[in-house]
Amino acid sequence: MSRAYNFCAGPATLPESVLKQARDEMLDWRGTGMSVMEMSHRSDAFVEIAETAERDFRELAGISDDYAVLFMQGGASSQFSTIPLNLLGSKTSADYVNTGIWSKKAIAEAERYASVNIVASSESSGFTSIPDPSSWQVSADAAYLHYTPNETIGGVEFDFIPDSGSAPLVADMSSTILSRPVDVSKFGLIYAGAQKNIGPSGLVVVVIRKDLLGKARQETPTMMNYQVIADHGSMYNTPATYSWYLAGLVFKWLKAQGGVKAMGEINRRKAEKLYGFIDNHEFYANPIDPRFRSWMNVPFTLQDDALNSAFLEGANARGLLNLAGHRSVGGMRASIYNAMPEAGVDALIQYMAEFAQERG
Ligand code: PMP
Repeated sequence: MSRAYNFCAGPATLPESVLKQARDEMLDWRGTGMSVMEMSHRSDAFVEIAETAERDFRELAGISDDYAVLFMQGGASSQFSTIPLNLLGSKTSADYVNTGIWSKKAIAEAERYASVNIVASSESSGFTSIPDPSSWQVSADAAYLHYTPNETIGGVEFDFIPDSGSAPLVADMSSTILSRPVDVSKFGLIYAGAQKNIGPSGLVVVVIRKDLLGKARQETPTMMNYQVIADHGSMYNTPATYSWYLAGLVFKWLKAQGGVKAMGEINRRKAEKLYGFIDNHEFYANPIDPRFRSWMNVPFTLQDDALNSAFLEGANARGLLNLAGHRSVGGMRASIYNAMPEAGVDALIQYMAEFAQERG
């Protein structure tokens, strides 16, 4: 059996060489006589794995010593509440930008703890664009400003870093982290669920400016207190060791590809090819403002929804998997994260061309 091209939005495809290395190291990690899964998180071997992963991640993303990097659990969704609990401090309100389904989920959770001010929303346009920053109503007393640089379901992505004034900028980078260079120094906090560009699920990586630590509310669960997690090197309890190890292998792979800058160029090319094809074929459509089209998640519709199941069947038969759009929006979606080879995008385009020819 050969490997399929898996366009799933997450858990997503991983680099084949990473999986092979994990396979080769499965039974005996470098002479320790055990797999990484079986190791104590306090062992020298695992501490080395963990520290190397953090070092490589810092190097790839350009993270200075002003920031702590935390390897937490609970997915990106748990951060929706962890963030207000830790960052509100003595303030009672926070600013949020609403650009789609993931923004809304973050907002709904924050509303349990804070008075949420929606500084801008693209809901009236059906989340097909990013609100013009000149219209944003940033509040003077917000504890932070939260936004979602890439909306995984809608397929809309910021091509700029918003100005949050004096409030720290907080970003849910789950589906865009490490896909292109980003100036981390502009952010107070970045978080990302691992299962797209980092590794397996079960891990969420948090990058937090150190001056924002130590402000957690009294009732914050210990496991959600950034200061506690930072003080314990993300090992206050047993971390997601195997996911952390796999993330480390993905970071090494990314470095071998030339790092985030080189990957950004590949991602731009992959995305431009696919959008270019869609725009040139009346049979297919993508509704997003071209300036804000996601490089990672490409939703598209067919001329006639009645053809969706035939399209998916034909795709599956060719090993082009998980192209159905999110259940909330329908249509199709191709997620083309870092680990999706350009050949996968080419194979998809070829199939789309043939399908349109036959059915259009
Ligand atoms: N934010 C974004 C942008 C996402 O794409 C996702 C998952 N698809 C989440 C948050 C939630 O992540 P998790 O399932 O890790 O909680």
